[in-house]
Amino acid sequence: MVYDNNNIFAKILRGELPCIKVFEDDRTLAFMDIMPQADGHVLIIPKEPAVTLLDLSEEGAVAAIRTTRRIAIAVKKALGVEGIHVAQLNGAAAGQTVPHIHFHVIPHAAGTVLRMHAAERADENSLKAMAERIKACLD
Ligand code: 5GP
Repeated sequence: MVYDNNNIFAKILRGELPCIKVFEDDRTLAFMDIMPQADGHVLIIPKEPAVTLLDLSEEGAVAAIRTTRRIAIAVKKALGVEGIHVAQLNGAAAGQTVPHIHFHVIPHAAGTVLRMHAAERADENSLKAMAERIKACLD
């Protein structure tokens, strides 16, 4: 799929748009979702320009899932929830809204329903505070 260099996550990667960072290494970046489906919702993106998982190199996929697992462990510890929802949508038909491959890590407490996808913007200070809590739980 043709990659749009001006998508939001490409701009975040280039530092042209801000993000609330949780973790970064040479191949991946993890940051808070600004419209979280639950408090503690983190997005993980490979730095490689790829629209979907199907366009990503094997090395990029390995790096992305390694960081996703690491973030999932930290989010579970930070939030103290029983469940962690990991999601990854490929193509608009599947519900993907930002055309740079990403993984969602969403804490899911028993008996709760996740908020609507990409629907309501969270307060910036709460997102920053949540990022600090998750960062403190990273191994
Ligand atoms: P998708 O629908 O592509 O799987 O998910 C895109 C995600 O990106 C949504 O959960 C949405 O809330 C989030 N999002 C959209 N725009 C921005 C933004 O500018 N910054 C951040 N941090 N997240 C965004």
